[in-house]
Amino acid sequence: MDMQTSFLDRLFESGLLIDTGIDGLYGRSGQFEDVIAAFERLIDTFGGADGAEAMRFPPGMNRAFFEKSGYMKSFPQLAGTVHSFCGSELDHVSLLQCMEVGEDWTKGQEATDIVLTPAACYPLYPTVAKRGNLPNTGGLFDLQSYCFRHEPSKDPARQQLFRMREYVCMGTELHVTDFRQRWMDRGVEMMKAVGLDVTIDVANDPFFGRAGKMLANNQRDQNLKFELLIPITSAANPTACMSFNYHQDAFGTKWGLNLEDGSVAHTACVGFGLERIALALFHYHGLDVKQWPASVRKALWG
Ligand code: ATP
Ligand code: ZN
Ligand code: MG
Repeated sequence: MDMQTSFLDRLFESGLLIDTGIDGLYGRSGQFEDVIAAFERLIDTFGGADGAEAMRFPPGMNRAFFEKSGYMKSFPQLAGTVHSFCGSELDHVSLLQCMEVGEDWTKGQEATDIVLTPAACYPLYPTVAKRGNLPNTGGLFDLQSYCFRHEPSKDPARQQLFRMREYVCMGTELHVTDFRQRWMDRGVEMMKAVGLDVTIDVANDPFFGRAGKMLANNQRDQNLKFELLIPITSAANPTACMSFNYHQDAFGTKWGLNLEDGSVAHTACVGFGLERIALALFHYHGLDVKQWPASVRKALWG
């Protein structure tokens, strides 16, 4: 049995995570949720004074926006779409027959107008674009959403449906890169406050295919993505618990995000993997929250 399986098994045994029979799809106990809620309050204390506009979107998004985002160009392997039965009574009969004999009953399902949200910030850009120009002072948004990624794994830190808290900044290059640097500093400080050892490193997204390798290299060379890493299931391969992304003016151009002075907005987003942070805390401090160091409990629950 490898390390990953045993941490997952211990999480199941303790009841913190609830097995659904699917790798990466878990229920969570009240205790697990309480840790996430406490950590989100800690995020609020660090980010609250910035005056971000809070928005909460459901875990599904407008398929047309998803298509325009280009996600299928870069990450087709991770996407999840929502399909539904749209047939006649006759189609229904054959669907039930298929199920009865254990054949594929999903073939006739048709795509709906909804796809699963791949990252919390995806529904934001078209929403803000619809409002018209951003002020020259830019925009700052506070998001949280369940996200779907088709990456089943026995690693409890790699889930298929998980929550991402994000801050998204839009403005000039200097404005949004300052924002990103501020959150890298805050991220390190926050994790230190809850007793976690972190490193920050340059990173890249898993762009699909051979052409994707070039995109990934380019992203790295230009320092567009950083990750805050914490060892959870492996010391050699620490887990990304936060990411800090600078999109240059790519999203600004794509979505028509402009500042009052006519320039295209640059954007950056900072994401917290909420389940990963909770898992890092349980991994470091033990599965029994009552036994956690007093300083950590104080940082989380006051
Ligand atoms: P990884 O390199 O581990 O796949 P990522 O680069 O795909 O992470 P992002 O796309 O930057 O991650 O997503 C923002 C944050 O969401 C990550 O820093 C991480 O904390 C969290 N996250 C990403 N994928 C998962 C997942 N499959 N399960 C749980 N949390 C995740
Ligand atoms: Zn984002
Ligand atoms: Mg990933």
